[in-house]
Amino acid sequence: MKNRWNESEAEKYQGELAQRVYTSRLLGADHTLVLHGGGNTSVKIKTKNAVGDDEEILYVKGSGWDLETIAEGGFAPVRMTHLKRLARLEVLSDPQMMNELATQVTRAGAPAPSVETILHAILPYKFVDHTHADAVLAVTNTADGERSIREIYGNDVVVIPYVMPGFDLARLCAKKFAAEAGPSTIGMVLLNHGIFSFGDTARESCARMIELVGRAEAYLKQRGAWEIAIAPQDRSGNMRSELPILRKDISRCAGFPVIVSSYRDDASLAFARRDDDVSQRGPATPDHVLRTKRVPMRGRNVEAFAETYKQYFERNAPNAKERKQMLDPAPRVILDPVLGMCCVGRSAKEAAIVRDLYAHTMDVILRAEALGGYRALPEPDIFDVEYWDLEQAKLRKAGKPAVFAGEVALVTGAASGIGKACVESLLKRGAAVVGVDISAEVESCVGARADYLGLQCDVTSEKAVVEALEAGVQTFGGLDMLILNAGIFPGGKAIESLDGKEWRRVMSVNLDANLTLMRECSTLLRLAPNGGRIVIIGSKNVPAPGPGAAAYSASKAALTQLARVAALEWGSSGIRVNTVHPNAVFDTGIWTDEVLKSRAAHYGMSVEEYKRNNVLRTEVRSTDVAELAAEMCGPLFAKTTGAQVPVDGGNDRVI
Ligand SMILES: [Zn+2]
Repeated sequence: MKNRWNESEAEKYQGELAQRVYTSRLLGADHTLVLHGGGNTSVKIKTKNAVGDDEEILYVKGSGWDLETIAEGGFAPVRMTHLKRLARLEVLSDPQMMNELATQVTRAGAPAPSVETILHAILPYKFVDHTHADAVLAVTNTADGERSIREIYGNDVVVIPYVMPGFDLARLCAKKFAAEAGPSTIGMVLLNHGIFSFGDTARESCARMIELVGRAEAYLKQRGAWEIAIAPQDRSGNMRSELPILRKDISRCAGFPVIVSSYRDDASLAFARRDDDVSQRGPATPDHVLRTKRVPMRGRNVEAFAETYKQYFERNAPNAKERKQMLDPAPRVILDPVLGMCCVGRSAKEAAIVRDLYAHTMDVILRAEALGGYRALPEPDIFDVEYWDLEQAKLRKAGKPAVFAGEVALVTGAASGIGKACVESLLKRGAAVVGVDISAEVESCVGARADYLGLQCDVTSEKAVVEALEAGVQTFGGLDMLILNAGIFPGGKAIESLDGKEWRRVMSVNLDANLTLMRECSTLLRLAPNGGRIVIIGSKNVPAPGPGAAAYSASKAALTQLARVAALEWGSSGIRVNTVHPNAVFDTGIWTDEVLKSRAAHYGMSVEEYKRNNVLRTEVRSTDVAELAAEMCGPLFAKTTGAQVPVDGGNDRVI
């Protein structure tokens, strides 16, 4: 455990709340302490309110904020007087508690205070830090967990048996803490949940957290339960032929398309290849259940997993106070000896969060196993968190997902122009996107984000195309949409001076490469949960060719014909193939200033006239083409295939 406190950094944070921000970020940056919105911190500050009364305010982490990136605005200010009185109540339902918290917040527009707010309020210290540290979980999640915790910490911490987060936990802590805390107490361990530390300053509380978690680490090290040896794993097998089938089954079971990201690092593969039942005992800490479900699916029998899940629901739902609505029964983590660890999400970001949670879960499980045997909370406790009324309420409030949520698109020529605009239009609609381009710029053209994979790839190389598809499938699980955009325009040239070499070069990029892509993607598109879609970026030159562009016009015409045949051949497999014919889109890679000038001159126009040389006298931009291509993949065009739609501002020769 490393204390990341840096004196000169810390000086930039002046004031108690600012110091609270600084050390919260220090804890958040250590993913062995907290992950994705887990954990929370607070500070109690005395202040005067608007009418001049003295007030003590608890600034506690608001929901929706992550400790790693939290700012002052991420803390909800709540009146302490009321919180202390709430803590003395005998009973308070969690929805009632959340209402009480919301009505005692002193800043309009502040985030909802954490569900652990009252727990922070009852601890009589200025600064309070709470994490779900891996090392502490590895120790508590064993048969002898409580004894080990007492051995490690003695009287330095108060030990609280597991109770679900919310009002009942806050009450129990209030009672036990008052009864058991002594002069040496610097923390509190919640069995199977996490750890608290506290102090008079942000620095002290944070340092105690590091110190306390460090002791759990040292304990694991002493018992040979820290370093876990992982044997190198065999990585043979291809994802393209197996993962999309699994993704289709999971999507059907979930009732919506999902991203399935496969991880085949040694640690994941070794864990997926274990023949014991450690993975089936339950999550490392109960709140993971919301993302990972109670247990991963072993192997690929989605139906059997769903059946078991339904039984789990039916077994536990009758014990709840109010009626529960069953969540979809699809797995979120899959452990398969060939596919490795697969993580499921409605978006690539969700799948990445599942991955982080389960990667840490594996560490906790393996260390707890080495310490004496991993043990998770009993099923009913996990069910209570998964079906907590606060979580069910969130579910009812959740809006409509984005139109392409859970779907995957591949765009060629994605580094610039129409291709890049297509990537942006698809991302905007919730798709995960694989962008390929001959330029390495494709790797970073939309910045680093979980839902985009940019791959440098020469589409005229079959080998490179297959490798890109393999990488795309491993990252997102399959393919739903294919946008064939990559193309070259070599500039005007009369037929008599057009040599065979140039002709073949244009054909190889604009036509042959697209045959390869369509052929290699066809199996993947057949497995698309909502049906596959292909959009071809054609050209106005197909219906209305111009002199001097023989190779380009011929290549796009042949490509259009290829698309029409594909529409006929693949329609019965639910794959739609449509073509857009743009014209005079000048913000693209093809149109260098030089080519633009030469084409304008060819028609006897200025560059400006040439740009708006259409019926509507409008400029057609990359985004106009991209938006149409994206819509063609959506529900608006659900009954359309084999179509050719111009996006050219109106062309009198086409009309
Ligand atoms: Zn917690």
